[in-house]
Amino acid sequence: MLLKRLRDTMARGGSVEETLADVVRTVANEMVAEVCSIYLLRAGEVLELFATQGLNPSAVHRTRLRVGEGLVGDIAAHGRPLALDDAQSHPQFAYRPETGEEIYHSLAGVPILRAGRVLGVLVVQNRTRRQYDEEEIETLQTIAMVLAEMVAAGHIVSPNEVEQVDGLGLLPLRIDGVQLTPGVAIGRAVLHEPRIVIQRVVAEDVDQEQTRFEEALVAVRHDVDRLLEADDMQDGEQREILETFRMFADDRGWMERVREAIASGLTAEAGVQRSFDDVRTRLGQSTDPYIRERLSDLQDLSNRLLLRLTGRAAVDPSALPDDMIVIARDMGPAELLDYDRARLRGVVLEEGSALSHVAIVARALDIPVVGRAPDVLSRVEPGDAIVVDGDNAQVLVRPAEDILHTVHAAIDARAERRRKYAALRDLPSTTRDQARISLQMNAGLLIDMQHLDDTGADGIGLYRTEIPFMVRSEFPDVDAQAWLYSRVLDIADGRPVTFRTLDVGGDKVLPYVGTFGDENPAMGWRAIRIGLDRPAMLRRQLRALIQATNGRPLSVMFPMIAEVSELLGARRLLDLELERARRRGLAMPERLRVGVMFEVPALAWQLDSLLPHVDFISVGTNDLLQFLFAADRGNSRLAGRYDSLSPALLRLLHFVVERVRPSGVDLAVCGEMAGRPVEALALLAIGVRTLSMSPGAIGPVKAMIRSLDLNEATGFVTSALAQPDRPLRETLRLFAADHAIEI
Ligand code: PEP
Ligand code: MG
Repeated sequence: MLLKRLRDTMARGGSVEETLADVVRTVANEMVAEVCSIYLLRAGEVLELFATQGLNPSAVHRTRLRVGEGLVGDIAAHGRPLALDDAQSHPQFAYRPETGEEIYHSLAGVPILRAGRVLGVLVVQNRTRRQYDEEEIETLQTIAMVLAEMVAAGHIVSPNEVEQVDGLGLLPLRIDGVQLTPGVAIGRAVLHEPRIVIQRVVAEDVDQEQTRFEEALVAVRHDVDRLLEADDMQDGEQREILETFRMFADDRGWMERVREAIASGLTAEAGVQRSFDDVRTRLGQSTDPYIRERLSDLQDLSNRLLLRLTGRAAVDPSALPDDMIVIARDMGPAELLDYDRARLRGVVLEEGSALSHVAIVARALDIPVVGRAPDVLSRVEPGDAIVVDGDNAQVLVRPAEDILHTVHAAIDARAERRRKYAALRDLPSTTRDQARISLQMNAGLLIDMQHLDDTGADGIGLYRTEIPFMVRSEFPDVDAQAWLYSRVLDIADGRPVTFRTLDVGGDKVLPYVGTFGDENPAMGWRAIRIGLDRPAMLRRQLRALIQATNGRPLSVMFPMIAEVSELLGARRLLDLELERARRRGLAMPERLRVGVMFEVPALAWQLDSLLPHVDFISVGTNDLLQFLFAADRGNSRLAGRYDSLSPALLRLLHFVVERVRPSGVDLAVCGEMAGRPVEALALLAIGVRTLSMSPGAIGPVKAMIRSLDLNEATGFVTSALAQPDRPLRETLRLFAADHAIEI
């Protein structure tokens, strides 16, 4: 009845004040309370009295409490109900003379929660020392849920007012993660897998809603049973997980809670959501991994039910904010690129590691990314103000004004540093003792090419050709590829460009090729292995490259070469395409350079036979590191476990440098390591003279180079490498500090 009356109140329309006044009057009457008040959270963690029946009307919009202050603040801070027969004797009680509340002794309040987050507080008060029972608290919770949906949907507060109360219902939060890409950005949250939004909260027909719930439950159980029947689910851990999950769908306690919620007048979807919110409020604080797992099972089950009950609406891209911070569990590079780049400011992932492709793409786009941010998906609401602070590996959710000021200052300081690096643009990349270092740039999209000019890079040391393949819905034909490569060469305007042939497979999935079903994709059928097994595909790419070159110099690099024979096979395909072009009278490349990526450790012991066949070698430390240490570059639990400045990697690279040098073959490093000043210092010290990196890294690395005495560094690193095994990071930092090297 109460819910129906509330809905009628809403339906009547009228001003915000009238609607809220009606709501508190209705609730007070129904609950036989002398006071009913609604406090809503406003920017700056302040709970403001928005409407009251019973307290002094002049206190509306005047009475404000900080979160944690007074009983109302306490309810908001902990997100849990409070019922007191003698409120004034409670240590948290804060007396506000303007409200005239001294005559009321008992108080019951519940948080206005939406998706587990506090939007405000609903309170009733009585003169007598009344003991509010559990049923009354539950009624208040149900009303609070209706209020939450109305606040979120903008039904209570007019759009104007919503703007004024930016930050409504949002508790500030700091989440620590790890830096996947540096930089700082401010924007509004977009959940990569948007949570299901409930449109209908109040039931028209309770019986019908009960039936809808039972039907959805049967359907979801059926789905899970089907999963359990699958062949690969017959034993092992996955079955156990699924069975535990299935148990929830049979859990009587939980089902009863949902049924009771529906019986109180909620729709089936609101009932499911309400029951889940209850459980989350109770268990959400737990750090016990078992409970957290169960909670996520239950979340999954609730989501499945909600999907059934609501039919998920597709996201309309035009409805996304202009300053998007995308929040996801994890995502692939193509998924990231689905977002409008002009509006994308930053990314926060619950998982992810610095070497994953999503991070590399984000770095190329100069977008800060914080990874391994615990539970961020469930702690952020779409539209929340978010600061992604990649530099300090933290995410600030709904930050307060003063914090925003500081962050803006940090963004300005960064812009200032950039100006400083921009000033280095035309200065030579030469050490203090006159060693010339070639600084090149990694690119993968046409838009990256603009950075050639603004960084002053010598050329493109690694053009990752797969990125355009990944964002398409079908395989690009030769002409489309040739057009693209030709544009790249046009923009490079004579500066060298090294095109790497398709490096798909592993974590770089082409939607139209499908997953390859490898159990261990990084070590599976990927890169040159696919190219050699599907020569038509590789040949078409080589044809496009020759066509695009149209008489200009061409530099081709083959990825993931593990054996010399693979290079020879690839080279044969290239020769066939050159021959084809010649027969057709096309302009031949003015100069042809062929090289390999050194990513698989085995190649180190084949250099003697490899070197006569290549013009250059580029070290891909991202893959090399994962194969050297047997540590998946995309596994967030292993991120940072093995240091790229470990003697193992540096000694291996030193060995390669020494072997390659007498041959005259060029050697470069193009993995992420090359773009970090301390790592770059170590690479130079062991004899590397060409580095290729994401555009944003060129300024800082050049500043390091120009402050470096390479001779001194070489001596230092050589002797440090002779020491017992310990990463060189700390010693190199101290060395840089002692010698005023900018790192
Ligand atoms: C590497 O492996 O270091 C590399 C540069 O290639 P990618 O990151 O594209 O695999
Ligand atoms: Mg690689």
